[in-house]
Order: sequence, then C-alpha cells, then structure tokens
Amino acid sequence: MSSDIRVRFCPSPTGNPHVGMVRTALFNWAFARHHGGTFVFRIEDTDAERDSEDSYIALLDSLRWLGLDWDEGPEVGGPYGPYRQSERMDISADVARRLVEAGHAYPCYCTAGELEAEREAARAAGRTQGYSGRCRHLTPDQRAAFEAEGRTSVTRFAMPEQDWTWDDLVRGEVTFGREHVPDYVIVRANGDPLYTLVNPVDDALMRITHVLRGEDLLSSTPRQLAMYQALAAIGVGDGRTPRFGHLPYVMGQGNKKLSKRDPESSLLMYRENGYLPEALLNYLALLGWSMGEDREFFSLPEMAEAFDVSRVSPNPARFDLKKCTAINGDWIRSLPAEEIGRRIVPFLERDGLVQDPISDSEWAVLMQAVPLVQERMETLGQAVGMLGFLFVAEPAFAIDPDQDISDEQSQQVVVAALDALSVLDAWDAASLQAALRGALIDGLGLKPKVAFGAVRIAVTGRRVSPPLFESLEILGRERAVGRLTAARRP
Ligand code: GLU
Ligand code: ZN
Repeated sequence: MSSDIRVRFCPSPTGNPHVGMVRTALFNWAFARHHGGTFVFRIEDTDAERDSEDSYIALLDSLRWLGLDWDEGPEVGGPYGPYRQSERMDISADVARRLVEAGHAYPCYCTAGELEAEREAARAAGRTQGYSGRCRHLTPDQRAAFEAEGRTSVTRFAMPEQDWTWDDLVRGEVTFGREHVPDYVIVRANGDPLYTLVNPVDDALMRITHVLRGEDLLSSTPRQLAMYQALAAIGVGDGRTPRFGHLPYVMGQGNKKLSKRDPESSLLMYRENGYLPEALLNYLALLGWSMGEDREFFSLPEMAEAFDVSRVSPNPARFDLKKCTAINGDWIRSLPAEEIGRRIVPFLERDGLVQDPISDSEWAVLMQAVPLVQERMETLGQAVGMLGFLFVAEPAFAIDPDQDISDEQSQQVVVAALDALSVLDAWDAASLQAALRGALIDGLGLKPKVAFGAVRIAVTGRRVSPPLFESLEILGRERAVGRLTAARRP
C-alpha cells in the first residue's frame, strides 16, 4: 500500500530531545506508516544562535534509538533535499523576494520604539494589539526617505483581509478572526529568514500533505494558511494547502504544562535508566491517542496498523511517569530473557561490572540470572543493583555499609551456614535450600527472614536480592563460601 500522503517531523536542534518532541514524531510516523505514506525528517536549523551540531546529532541518534525510521531526510536523502534548512537559506531568501515583488510582503521600517508606542496606544484604547500594518502602503518616496535616514527594514507578510477557518484533524473547525492575525515578520533586518517563512515554504516545496504538531503552534496556523495562498499564487509548491491537526498539550506535575526542563521530559533520562524504546513509544502513544477497547499495551507495528488521527483527543493529556515505568516493566517481562540480557549488557559495562565486550562466561552467568529478575524489574538500569553481586570481582565485593551483620545472631547464622555449605555435595538451588533450612531453621530455630536475611547480605551485599538459593547456585561454591567467610567476625 502506498499513497501520496507526506508528513514531516521538523524539530529545531536546540537542547536535548524531549518527550513532547518524540510524541510529535511518533504520531507523524504512525500516520505515515498507517497510510503507506512518506515520513520526512527535516531539521529546522535556521537560528544559528540557538542551534547546535550536538543537538542535531542527538536528534538523529534518538530517532534511530527509538526505531522511528524516516523515508527522506538527513543521512538518507530524498528527492526534495537538502533536509537541513541551514542549507536552504537561498531558497527562502528567493521566495521572500518574490513575495515582496508580488505584493504579498513588504518592508517595514518601524523601530522597536515605534512598535512599542503602537502597542501602548492599542492597549490604552482597548483594541486588539498587534502590528497596525502602517508600512504596508508606503510610497516609493517614503521608503526612500526612511532608507536615507539610515533605517533598516524587516520583511512583513501582508495578511489578506479575511477571517481564517480550517477543519483541524484533531479539533474540528477552528476559526481565528482577522483582528487576531496581524501582519507578521518573515525576514529579519539582517536578511535571515524566520520560521514563519521557511517552515511553510519547505512544507510546500516538500509536498507535505498533513501537518500534525503540538497545540502550542495553533496560533501560527492562520498565518501559514495565508502564506500557502500566497505561495500558490507565485508558483511555489503545487498550490495545495496541507491539512493541519494539533496534538493536545501534555501536562506534567501540578497540572502545569510539561516543560522541557522537567526531568521526566528528557529523552536521555529514559535511555540512561534503561527504558525500552518500545515501552516509551507505547506510553507516549497514549498521550492523546487510544487504540480502543482500553488496550494500553501494544507494539509500534500494531500502533501503525491501528493509528487513526480521528481518535486523537483534543483534551490535554497527563504525563504520568509511574504509568510509563509500569509499562516499561510490562515490556521487560514480555521479551525473551536473552533479549533482555542483551539489553542489560551496556548497563553492566557502564558500571564496569563486565568486560566490554562481555566475555562468554559472564554472558553465561547473565543468562542464568536474567530469569530471576525479569519479573521484578521496571527498568534495565535496576539490573545493575540486582545482579551486580554476580559480576563484581572478589576483592572489590563489599557489603552495603547500611547492612550490619556483625551482631551475635547474624554471626551465628553465618557460622552455621558455612558449616552446612562446606559439607554439601551438590551445588544446586534445591540442595542449597535443603541444607540451609536444615542448618538455620531446624538447627538454630530461627525464622526464615532472620536466617536467610543474614546469608543474603553476606553473599549479595544487600538486603534485597534475587531469590537466594538460585543466587547462591549461580554465584558458585567458591565465591559463596569466600564471602561468608569474609563476613565472619574475627
Ligand atoms: N521547528 C518547529 C518546532 O520545533 C516546527 C513546528 C511545526 O511543526 O510546524 O517547533
Ligand atoms: Zn512598519
């Protein structure tokens, strides 16, 4: 199935990728894939002061990590390139010139002081604020006079005298009155074209048919609708205006909009703590969209198959990190142990617990251990704390300083456990359980929690660990006995 539907994801490379951005990318991707259309990835790097190469690289890397593949864009190319706006500045400068020539835009010589005075006057008179359009009808002589004064000019778009209505893919009919859409700047005084120009120009030239983007951009849509009319009139693009759909706001803590500065916004946070891309996308899909029948667990291909933009809700969505984490846990449980093992490796490597690359024997230990923790992990990062005791080199093994087992009773346990294990023939979980039960519960008359708790701390270093007998089995006789011996008070 293939169609002429073309959507784009067009972030500006400023700062670190955040979840709001990913949600926009995801919905566009799913829309394209559902319809057999084209997903275009364009970089809006027209603001040299704020854009950075690091951020550009982080964007590409993030989409790759998430598994959102693009059909046209950086690194893959395509028939409408280049896909970085910084390489297209001459195109927009040329369009700006043609817009002025055709009367759709004009130079505005107003100074900051004059614009402020205009706003002040409008405020005092209780009128809608916004540029009055006073430079729109300057005569050639008046322009020459301003230039002789040494004034510079920005280029403004001349908004037609009409109200603006469109049928939003998410919100239905939306209308902005003429008075709310004043003439706006498209080129700075220094000649730099702005987002207001470059974004619709590139959408037109790249034949974008549908624009799904955040609600924060709603008020720029009437301007862009007007721009499309003008672009069609001067022959830029194929004359068609894309359909717009505005995705709902994402709310964070305390019913405030989720901000880029909130820690749960940062995509990096999810990668570093071991969220699976499948899980993060699964959760982000629920921010405004639903598959129906209360289905909250699904894969990317399932989402693409089911995605219907008319099921996107215009109501604000609430970002809930707990729920996102719970879905991550569901995903961890749903994948084969071997796959989860593979994904845990980088976390163990990062903490220096295994070699890089992991050795065969370390991998064998990991494969035994993953099934013990897979059920209770919510992030891959937690595996480091849960399984670290299996990989730490013996001289570096240490009991968590908060866990004291030097008291009389714990010491009794350690000694009895050592005695029992040193005469044990078979070193498997069932034999270990039988031996330790016999020695500690029957022998010393202790409650399991007390008895096994001290052994656990002695061999894993922590009060919470994977199941004890399996842990001992994987750890092996030598290391287990060594650790118990070291835990014995001299
Ligand atoms: N570069 C713009 C942004 O990141 C794109 C807005 C749009 O989708 O039109 O906000
Ligand atoms: Zn002006």
